[in-house]
Amino acid sequence: MTITVAIDGPAASGKGTISKAVAARFGFAHLDTGLLYRAVGAKMLAGVDPTDAAKGLVPEDVVGDHLRTPEVAQAASRVATLHEVRAALVDFQRAFAARAGGAVLDGRDIGTVICPDAQVKLFVTASAEVRAERRFLELDGKGIEVTRQSVLADVKERDRRDSERAVAPLIPADDAIVIDTSTLDIDAAVKHAEDAIRAVLG
Ligand code: C5P
Repeated sequence: MTITVAIDGPAASGKGTISKAVAARFGFAHLDTGLLYRAVGAKMLAGVDPTDAAKGLVPEDVVGDHLRTPEVAQAASRVATLHEVRAALVDFQRAFAARAGGAVLDGRDIGTVICPDAQVKLFVTASAEVRAERRFLELDGKGIEVTRQSVLADVKERDRRDSERAVAPLIPADDAIVIDTSTLDIDAAVKHAEDAIRAVLG
């Protein structure tokens, strides 16, 4: 069986948590595609040309806590505006989506560009304030020095860059189910996602 679940949405919307939960629930493999862009962003900060970095990405590049810093997040959203970088990452993501046994991919353009034929498409969102508070607590909990104000500014800046870019902007696919987690708790949001997948699995 090949089933692809595409989960898109802005930073800290809860899409990562939902993706991990449904992948575990149904035994699907999970790819956090943001890590690909973060890995390229981290390489750019280290002086590597982003397109070369994207073309030469190896599995070891996409692991590590250094990818979770606000600086790397901003660098990721900058390299993500480059057509050549996005093009270099397409084949890997599509191959992952087609793997036997089912796959969940989360990102910004999975339902629109990478897997337009995905059987399940979800768009997970929440207000910028709610998302910034979540991200603040997450970063603060890891001992990364940030303020609520700087995290909110970062979230808004990335939202703007991700939504306004010319290539693969962050927008819900026409056939995506929108889950707003501003007021939904995580269990309710995961249930929503599970119901959508069950409806397809029959
Ligand atoms: O999801 P995450 O916050 O890790 O993504 C980091 C950045 O990578 C995003 O702000 C976005 O610019 C970019 N990205 C993207 N397309 C994806 C996944 C992430 O452009 N499919």
